[in-house]
Amino acid sequence: MKVLVINSGSSSIKYQLFDMTDESVLCSGLVERIGEDMGSLTHKVAPDTDRADRIVLEQPIADHEVGMRLAIDLICGEKGVVKDKSEISAVGHRIVHGGESFHHPTLVDDSVMEELAKVIPLAPLHNPGHLAGMRVARALFPTVPQVVVIDTAYHQTLPPKAYMYALPYDLYEELRIRRYGFHGTSHCFVAKEAARVMGRPFEEFNCITVHLGNGCSMTATENGRAVDTSMGITPLEGLVMGTRSGDVDAALHSFLHRSRGMTPEEVDFMLNKESGLKGLCGMGDMRDIHAAIAKGDERARLALDVQTYRNRKYIASFMGVLGRVDAIIFTAGIGENDSVVRSKSVENLERFGVKIDEKINDQRVSTPLRISTDDSEVQVWVIPTNEELAIARETKALIEA
Ligand code: ADP
Repeated sequence: MKVLVINSGSSSIKYQLFDMTDESVLCSGLVERIGEDMGSLTHKVAPDTDRADRIVLEQPIADHEVGMRLAIDLICGEKGVVKDKSEISAVGHRIVHGGESFHHPTLVDDSVMEELAKVIPLAPLHNPGHLAGMRVARALFPTVPQVVVIDTAYHQTLPPKAYMYALPYDLYEELRIRRYGFHGTSHCFVAKEAARVMGRPFEEFNCITVHLGNGCSMTATENGRAVDTSMGITPLEGLVMGTRSGDVDAALHSFLHRSRGMTPEEVDFMLNKESGLKGLCGMGDMRDIHAAIAKGDERARLALDVQTYRNRKYIASFMGVLGRVDAIIFTAGIGENDSVVRSKSVENLERFGVKIDEKINDQRVSTPLRISTDDSEVQVWVIPTNEELAIARETKALIEA
């Protein structure tokens, strides 16, 4: 069975075609700068093998339909990895925000499209691009089942005490203002992987998953169900990210309006694009920050300290949420590669049963690695995330059900 995974953004489309018999990637690609004067498409054949090949097209790409057609022509046909569109059994779509309507991966029909359109006010930067991609994919593959795998779905099991903000209740009733949480596909994937490698049934598994990429979030999972998470109504709340502030005092908007005359839009832009690691030291990439620290850059050190301290505070608070923690799991760009961040994020947690082996922690592998000591009550793992594979698996499972 071959599953095409599509992540359609406002001006880009990412795709991967999986052969689900061995979960290998047959091809992947990125269509960029849709709607601009000049667009591009980078298509990779068998990207994870030594037969890897690349095709790059530079041309104007007027809209999602043009972009998707270009991609499909490279995937299927004479020189494609499949000879005909009919070889593709299902399409899985990555969706950022499903509001409160979606708790599981769902087969796409007109009512699903309508529900996702209703959630646009909660995800104005993401859902319109997803819908554009879904419309085109449905037109190009009219008889192929299509599935939405939604980032907010995993966190729909949060109890009200965790998802409600302490605000006037009518804001929830009228506008559905609440904590939704994001990166759910990744949290769910690495939590299940951890249970699998530890030989534990997921339904009895308690863990804290720490996703540290450009965006950063943390989720507490109890008995295989998410019970709390750091991101909120938008992906701004919680941890310190590449350019996002994470938690700040909610009075900041009005304070900056009074003191600097900033508009709500300007404050939003600052908190999302000019804050986080970048705001503190001018660099949003952790690799640059380490290089700067090595040269004695104090601001870079401060950025590292602020991020890892926030991680530690959240890990400790989620330990309080769960009581029993079987595993803490680090994942995504920083979580998978940065032993210093991992080590500093669990500093001082020894008395809570968290001990890591610094020698093992320093190893760099691309498979699950336990970095805690043998006598650590809580196991600590590095588990590579793979959101596209997670979407392909969920899509396959749903259409086979
Ligand atoms: P995204 O959230 O965009 O999917 P990733 O999960 O790819 O992001 O993470 C990107 C971040 O991972 C980069 O900004 C960088 O800070 C960090 N990163 C990647 N490789 C390393 C590394 N070897 N050491 C430290 N940080 C790394």
